[in-house]
Amino acid sequence: MDFDALRKNMVEVQLVGRGDITDKKVIEAFLKVPRHRFVSEKLQKDAYGDYPLPIGSGQTISQPYMVALMTQCLQLNGSEKVLEIGTGSGYQTAILAELANQVYTIERHPDLSKSAENITKELGYKNIYFKVGDGTLGWHEKSPFDAIIVTAGAPDAPKYLLEQLADGGRLVIPVGSEFTQRLMVYEKIKDEIKTNQVCACTFVKLIGKAAWKE
Ligand code: SAM
Repeated sequence: MDFDALRKNMVEVQLVGRGDITDKKVIEAFLKVPRHRFVSEKLQKDAYGDYPLPIGSGQTISQPYMVALMTQCLQLNGSEKVLEIGTGSGYQTAILAELANQVYTIERHPDLSKSAENITKELGYKNIYFKVGDGTLGWHEKSPFDAIIVTAGAPDAPKYLLEQLADGGRLVIPVGSEFTQRLMVYEKIKDEIKTNQVCACTFVKLIGKAAWKE
């Protein structure tokens, strides 16, 4: 299977073709990161489709377009320390590692975290730090973060994450009910929080102390 051709087509049709993914660095990262390596062998033929896929433990790797949109909302320039909540397969983590200086990522399922760590190591990433735990609490010792991305849906922006955001930093997170959310961007400017809605979306639940109960 020609995964390079499938990946190029995914970028051209699903990202650039939709019209709103315009950040050249984001587009380059999507052309580079081999998405098929982050799913089981059986699903590799579907890895470049325009939809989410199962990754085990009842979780999903998000649709490529949604990963791109969330990444673009962070407005990374390469110098940032980023916190990701919901490592999942590690695909979004690898995209972030292409675009930022350091990526700290937290996942509540140990098996997903281990598998993501193995794949990203095999691919040569050296700027990713993994943790197993409740990401709604953030990663206090490593804070503040220039950007925080949450890849699961929450009832509200967890207060710990807003606290751990640096001045000028951005938190991107789906917020809403258990079934449907809005993608939100919270920007911290001198301790004030500016809020922007991006679009409707549907994510698996963010489960933890500052989000949904299991
Ligand atoms: N970005 C991932 C990828 O590229 O594969 C997909 C993430 S998946 C949509 C959401 C992930 O968030 C799941 O792996 C889930 O276990 C994780 N999750 C949910 N609540 C969490 C929490 N409190 N802390 C850390 N991870 C959490």
